[in-house]
Amino acid sequence: DDIRELEELDKNHFLHPTSSIQQQQDAGPSFIFKEGRGVYLEDVKGKIVIDGMSSLWNVNVGHGRSEIGEVAKEQMTKLAYSSCFATFSNEPAIRLSAKLAELASSDLMATFFTSGGSEANDSAYKLARHYWMLKGKPERKKIISRTKSYHGVSMGATSATGLKPFREFSSSLAPDFYYVDHVEPVMLRELIEAEGPETIAAFIAEPVQGAGGVHIAPATYFKEVKEICVENEILFITDEVITGFGRTGKWFGIEHYGVTPDMMCFAKGVTSGYAQLGGVMLTEQIHEEFKKLSTGTLLHGYTYSGHAMACAVALKNLELIETENLIGNAESMGKELLAGLMWIQANHKIVGEVRGLGLMAAIEFVDEDQKKFQTPVSPLIVNEAAKRGLICRSVIFDGQDTIVIAPPLIITKEEIGNLIRILDDSIKEIEGKIPL
Ligand code: PLP
Repeated sequence: DDIRELEELDKNHFLHPTSSIQQQQDAGPSFIFKEGRGVYLEDVKGKIVIDGMSSLWNVNVGHGRSEIGEVAKEQMTKLAYSSCFATFSNEPAIRLSAKLAELASSDLMATFFTSGGSEANDSAYKLARHYWMLKGKPERKKIISRTKSYHGVSMGATSATGLKPFREFSSSLAPDFYYVDHVEPVMLRELIEAEGPETIAAFIAEPVQGAGGVHIAPATYFKEVKEICVENEILFITDEVITGFGRTGKWFGIEHYGVTPDMMCFAKGVTSGYAQLGGVMLTEQIHEEFKKLSTGTLLHGYTYSGHAMACAVALKNLELIETENLIGNAESMGKELLAGLMWIQANHKIVGEVRGLGLMAAIEFVDEDQKKFQTPVSPLIVNEAAKRGLICRSVIFDGQDTIVIAPPLIITKEEIGNLIRILDDSIKEIEGKIPL
């Protein structure tokens, strides 16, 4: 009865992020989770599932880490929060900004903190534009992003998001956002020439596109992109909200490409979801420019920029990622996962391309002519997998029919085996029902 009450209250009062009319009106919540342990989640009915998406690509150290809970409690009790505006500071925020400078291993030296990835993106666009104002080039204000990109849902981040349905949700967008193809650097060069480099502030890209369907850039892509940015004096920003903190088998996704950004957005894995935190890192050179603010004040700051409890949680989370070698595990378990997906591919006619980097992977579905099904099958397989004990996500934007998988970085070989078995059974079940 308690469960029924929760379901009714949910239906009546809770407008879910990315809620679907069909799903919510008919049946209410599919899972009301109450507990998590490692890669597993348990709902109020006692059903246990593998969290094959690390929830929203963020629970990198897995669920139920009491070490983090203890740190949160200690910091909450001592000083949960104090302002970081202007000359005020607190120790967790200071130590975290220093730790991030150590981890980012390029010349990214300073961090501006936010509460999440969308705010990190909006901050990056505003800071990039203000940087050019400080350099006496206020006409450099356009932001270029990629088709199939996802940068968040605040107004700037929505405007930068390449995936059209997210932009079309709002009848009006922020000005000065432009988009280029997600694999062809030549198109970036053409757009810059057409618009005039002197009008462009920055180019932003996810090292691996996540929400758009786990699209991995060609090996030379970011090197070429960086060259184009340098030639045209355009800031190169990476959005590491998903790819940061070990997800791809390196601390940051861009490390796979041997280039460094001028700014880097992060969120999610910085706390593994144990607290709300994000930010933008800046190079020493950009940081120096902000120290010389001609306007006197950096008029950009959130109440929760540098939240003491969230920063303490991040420090503990990063310590766990380091001491448990979760980056190495993401790399080796990523190979297991990809091998498992290839085995599934060999077993099923309806599986097309599979791809992955670290613990970020995707599997596409096609009909017998290797074309897309008229009605995507991935949502059916995702539903079937959930029934059988695995949470994964279907991506159907841009005519795709893909399932993406991104389990916690603590996952073991045995757990990958279980994940693959459930996915394989789910595909088999749905495949049997499709008129081929
Ligand atoms: N950037 C990327 C690459 C993301 O994947 C996300 C969220 O999924 C965001 C930004 C937005 O982050 P948030 O949902 O914390 O605002």
